[in-house]
Amino acid sequence: MTTLKSSGSNINNKIICLRPESDFEEFGEVAPSHFNVIYLSPNDRSLIRKASNASVLLIPAVGPKISNDIFSKTSLKMVQVTGAGIDRLDQDFCARNNIKVCNVLGASAKSVAEYCIFAALTISRRLSKTTDEILSGNYKELRGNIIQDRMFSLSGLTLGVIGFGSIGQETAKMFSALGCQIQYYDPSDPKVAENLSQIAVKNGKEDLLRTSDIISIHVPLIDQTKNLISMQEFSLMKKTSILLNASRGGVVDEHALSQAIQDKKIKGAAIDVFTSEPPEKNNPLLNLPDEFRDSIILTPHIGGITVQSWSELFSRSWINIQRFFDGEELENRQI
Ligand code: NAD
Repeated sequence: MTTLKSSGSNINNKIICLRPESDFEEFGEVAPSHFNVIYLSPNDRSLIRKASNASVLLIPAVGPKISNDIFSKTSLKMVQVTGAGIDRLDQDFCARNNIKVCNVLGASAKSVAEYCIFAALTISRRLSKTTDEILSGNYKELRGNIIQDRMFSLSGLTLGVIGFGSIGQETAKMFSALGCQIQYYDPSDPKVAENLSQIAVKNGKEDLLRTSDIISIHVPLIDQTKNLISMQEFSLMKKTSILLNASRGGVVDEHALSQAIQDKKIKGAAIDVFTSEPPEKNNPLLNLPDEFRDSIILTPHIGGITVQSWSELFSRSWINIQRFFDGEELENRQI
């Protein structure tokens, strides 16, 4: 429960929130009582009218693009994202118009890292269809096939992390605890946590792709990361490798991935995020031939969603909005 004191500052304390109030209630992180929060759906026709004299927009990280009109026709001056990605916003527009944009970093790092462990194991141990197969009476054949395919455990494998920020580093820690070697690629030369600095080895992108057994992507979606993993990258990877993308759709070229799986250029992939969400029916990853169904896990952008991560995302968002009202330095200001 977030309890904050009213600052008595002059900034209008009106907040437009594009996620339902019930989300905050369910996680025990309701808005401080001195905040004036209007909860609206993103396509509410009265949004601009109701936001005309509001100061803060509170949004989930995932959802449709936010129209620039919401800012040009209102007095909104700060956006707080209850998550990491800020790709719903026109970032150049926000920068030009002095709209402060903040996210909450690190709160879902453990959840995404756990998801990556689950996903890597599900593919490497071929667990994605076992329940359905047993229910349809294929126990013996299934067991024989799995044994014949020689499953790997994670111990001794090399994890390559692309994007070594808060989630990339948490993922590295968890895989390392299970006996994996860790290498990473991140052009920004990030600060590496003390307990990782001895075990995580920095590498170039191509060499990382060539030498990793599991490749986990944790970059933001920006111009430089669109189709970061495409045909050329798949051609470098080990044929036994597993790709994990719980960052953003568009970072991995979906056509190239579908082709790489069918050409057996990699062993498989776990995909939590899609170019459009929900994915279109004709998305190539939804239309792989049956024989490749074991090679892919598709999940509906839930890598970072657990009770623990949402509670933290919500409480830290309210606290940061209070900082804005108080004129204090903001946490995780991205713009
Ligand atoms: P972060 O800002 O802490 O780390 C991102 C890292 O990526 C940074 O170190 C940055 O330097 C690096 N990077 C940028 N461009 C790169 C490039 N071209 N190649 C390699 N590295 C590059 O962010 P984070 O909290 O670790 O989150 C990472 C992303 O995960 C978010 O942007 C968001 O899109 C996604 N995410 C997904 C879920 C989910 O539910 N699946 C949940 C939370 C976050």
